[in-house]
Parts: sequence; C-alpha cells; structure tokens
Amino acid sequence: MTGFSEILVSQQTRLERLAAISEPLRQPQEIIRIADQGRGLEAEDIASLYAAARDQARRAELQAAANRIRMQWARKTVEFIIPVYLTSFCQNECLYCGYRQSNPIAERVRLGQEDFDKQLDLILSWGHRQIELVLSDDPEFGPEMVARYVAATRRKLDALGGGMVALCSPVYKQEDYVRLREAGLDWVVEWQETYHRPHFDRWHYGSSPKRAFESRLDLWDHVIAAGITRIGMGVLLGLYDFRHDTLAVIEHGNYLRRTYGIEPHALGIPRLKPARGVLASQKPNRFTVSDDDFRLVVSAYHMAFPTSRLFFNTRESYDLNISLVSAGDLFTVDCETLPGAYLRRHLPGQFSTHDYPPRREVAATLERRGLAAQYLAEDTPCQVALAAPVRGTAIDTKRWLDEHAQVRARLQDWETALQRLSTHGAQAIERQAADACLRESLEYFKAVLTTHGRQEESELFPALASGAEAAAKIAALCAEHERFGVDLDKFERQMISYGLSKDPTVLLTLGSRMIREMRAHLEAEEQLLR
Ligand code: SF4
Repeated sequence: MTGFSEILVSQQTRLERLAAISEPLRQPQEIIRIADQGRGLEAEDIASLYAAARDQARRAELQAAANRIRMQWARKTVEFIIPVYLTSFCQNECLYCGYRQSNPIAERVRLGQEDFDKQLDLILSWGHRQIELVLSDDPEFGPEMVARYVAATRRKLDALGGGMVALCSPVYKQEDYVRLREAGLDWVVEWQETYHRPHFDRWHYGSSPKRAFESRLDLWDHVIAAGITRIGMGVLLGLYDFRHDTLAVIEHGNYLRRTYGIEPHALGIPRLKPARGVLASQKPNRFTVSDDDFRLVVSAYHMAFPTSRLFFNTRESYDLNISLVSAGDLFTVDCETLPGAYLRRHLPGQFSTHDYPPRREVAATLERRGLAAQYLAEDTPCQVALAAPVRGTAIDTKRWLDEHAQVRARLQDWETALQRLSTHGAQAIERQAADACLRESLEYFKAVLTTHGRQEESELFPALASGAEAAAKIAALCAEHERFGVDLDKFERQMISYGLSKDPTVLLTLGSRMIREMRAHLEAEEQLLR
C-alpha cells in the first residue's frame, strides 16, 4: 500500500516555500469567505493567513473570524478526556521526552492489571467517560497486551452506559489495529512530531525504532484500512518552524479528506515543554512557539478543519487553554503522565503539566459560554484509596533529616573531589582519583533524585502543604528537583568533554554551582519541616 509518505516527498519543497511567504497569495477576506462555507482550507490558504498575520491587527481579525466559523460549524460541546499511562519504559531516544531511554532520572513503571483496574475505577468515579490509553515504546508491552487493556476499558465504560477509548502508542502494524478495534478501540492518537525530515532525524536519536519516518507518515493509511476512521493527528510544536509543520498537518489532513472522505477526528496542539532530566526541553530554541503564535495555530486549525476537535492539554496553563477552547474541542483537566499516578497524585512524569481547577468548575465555565461538557458523568462513590498522604498526616521528621545528613556528606565528598581536581589536576594519579570520586558522586545523586526526591514529592510535600505561601515554596522545590536532573545530565556530558580536553574549568564551575544550590535546597526543605 502506498501512503502519504510518497506525497510528502513531492510536496516538501512546496511546503517549505509556503511556510516562508511574507505576502498573502490571496486576499485574507477572500479566504475567510471560503472558510465561512465550512468545507475547510488548503495549505496555500493557511500560508496566506500566516503571512497576513505578521501584521498584529490582521492577526486579531483572523482569530475573530476563526472563532465565528468554529461556533457556526462545530457542535456546541467540549469533550473531556483523561490520559491513562500504561508504561514509562521506552527503547527510543526522543531528545525532547522525559521517558527517553537514556534519561537516568525517569521513573520507570509498568502498570499491572490490578493497578490499572483500580485506577480506572477511580477516574470513572470522577465521571470521566473518554479514556486515552498512553504508552511509551516498551518492548515488553506489545499490542496484544494493549488490546487486553483496551478491552478492559471498553467493558467498564459499557457497564456505565458507554464512552470512548483512544490510544496513543508506538506505531503498530495494520493487523494490530484490527485487533485493537475488535477489542473496543474507538480512535488513535499519534503525532508526527515534525514533518521536516532532517529535524525529525535530529530529534530522534541513535538507533531508536521511532526513526522510521515513512512508517509514521503512512500510519493513517494503515489505521483506516484496519477499519478505524477516527484519527488524532498533529505535530509537537517547537521541534521545527511551526508554519511548516502545521501546513504539513493541513496537507496531510486534506490528503485523508480527498483519499478516504475522512476529516481528522482530532488535531493535536502539544507544545514542547520542560521535562525532568531533558536538557533539550529546558531552554527556548529558535523554533520555540510563542503564546501569540500558539493562538494563531489554533485559529488556523479551526479554519482548516472546522469540525475537527483541537486537543487542549495540560502542558498549557488553564488560563491560556480556557481562553482558546471552542465548540467541538477536546479538553484535558485531570492529567497525570506517570503510570499509576492517579493513585498517588502529582508525581513528575513524561513532561511538566499545569494544575487546573476542579473538573466541575471547568464544566461550569464552559457552560456559561454555551458549551456543554461531554464525556463527564456525575461523580459516583469509589472505594479506591489514594496512596498519597493527606495534609496533616504525621511527618517523620527524623527520617527526612537523616536522609539529608547523608546527602550533605556526599556533597562534601563531591566538593573535595572538585578541589582535588582544581589543585592537582595536572597530575595523572590525582586526576584519576578525582575522576573516580566524581563518577561515584554523579551516580549517587542520580539515584537520590529518583528515590529521595520522588519520595519527598509523593510523601512529604503533600503532607506539608498548607496555605498559598507553603504551596508556592513546595512548587519551587519541585522545580529545583527537575533542574537538578538537567544539571546532572549536563555534568555527565561535561565529564565526557573534560575526559577529552583535560580542561576541568567548566566542570569545576558547574559542579560548584550545583553543590551550592543543593545545599540551599536542603536548607529550604528543612525550614518547611521545622
Ligand atoms: S516520545 Fe514516546 S517514544 Fe519518544 S522517548 Fe518519549 S515515550 Fe518514548
């Protein structure tokens, strides 16, 4: 079977050219008149709107037109959806992702059937009726096992009157999608990440199976051939020029429209966000998408596919999402990205997420705007107990102080090794001893971040939190854990550079800063304990 990969090869130059135009090819008012008819737009039209939107006043006009078109053509509902992660083990090296194989501080969890059932019962009791099963590329969690989880979800939803099951997984074979459909799967979510081949190769490193660019491009042809016609497509905004990538999504969506008569069921709008231990996600790059451009992408998709759902997710702040969500969109309110985390709450997972108001409050806000919340039933009682301690739980202060004392002793060893390197680094024997000590420190602190840091976040911090001031301090401490992960990654790379250059300058500066910051961090935590 041929698929979209062949089309893209012939259209790559055209898409690059369209992404770069600075003057509209056609007058925006004329394009809006076409969009008003509700049949969607071609990549050329959206490229023209992008060009016109370089002028701020025109950008606002386009956004107003997109809202109007959306309210005219889409159903007056917003669908709630909740992700349920199944595994965080991964054989891929996507440089933007907290679950990439080589991330030493990623928490690896494979959800067993018992915990899965317990967690599903809990979130169904909250009223959720649209479940997105999500998993990384875990060789021990293949499509047959996924089909069992799909079937279990389907059974539970049907027993409650129905609902939707979506799946975001590695790319499978056509026959696997047949099996998944038979198990009760309604729709498939898959982001191309970027349609720009050189950048796709750059972001998907080493021998990752995910580097199979063409298989990803042809996925929808296989999914549709397997009988699943609801597809959720998109890119990760921030991996390449957003104009190019969103025009490619529109080209791909129009290909599906022409070839199969199918509108995309959903369009993803994930933006690259910081992830624990992921250096590439921490700093803005030249493709970082501003809030203003993010709003423009939302308008462009709304006009290009006036009945497809835009998938608003908790990577973005609530205020931004609620200001943009419109008729017919998808909205995530409760979101944990670590397998099993709904039972433990607020553990760092694949990427950083924002806190949102309670789901009923969000539904009420949407209702005031004339949009009914779908896939959100009434709350029902549930016997599942959350594992995380609640506020007021007795805190074992001695335990935490003892653990801090051990960390301080290791910081002292680390500092001594750095001093040794700075004063005697020219002597081979001293250098080897310092190297060994630094490597040991590195391994120790990686382990501390995944065990002690994680335990603080799941056990200590929830028990401490009381009042806005304490909550702000705790949020800052969690952010510091995340930053230490990135710094350790940097330190490890500097060890390699130092091994080649024998110049320890950067290593010494970075190490000293980290030690200073870790000591201040311990002190701040202890102030909260007192
Ligand atoms: S994006 Fe998916 S495949 Fe890539 S590292 Fe993360 S979990 Fe694995």
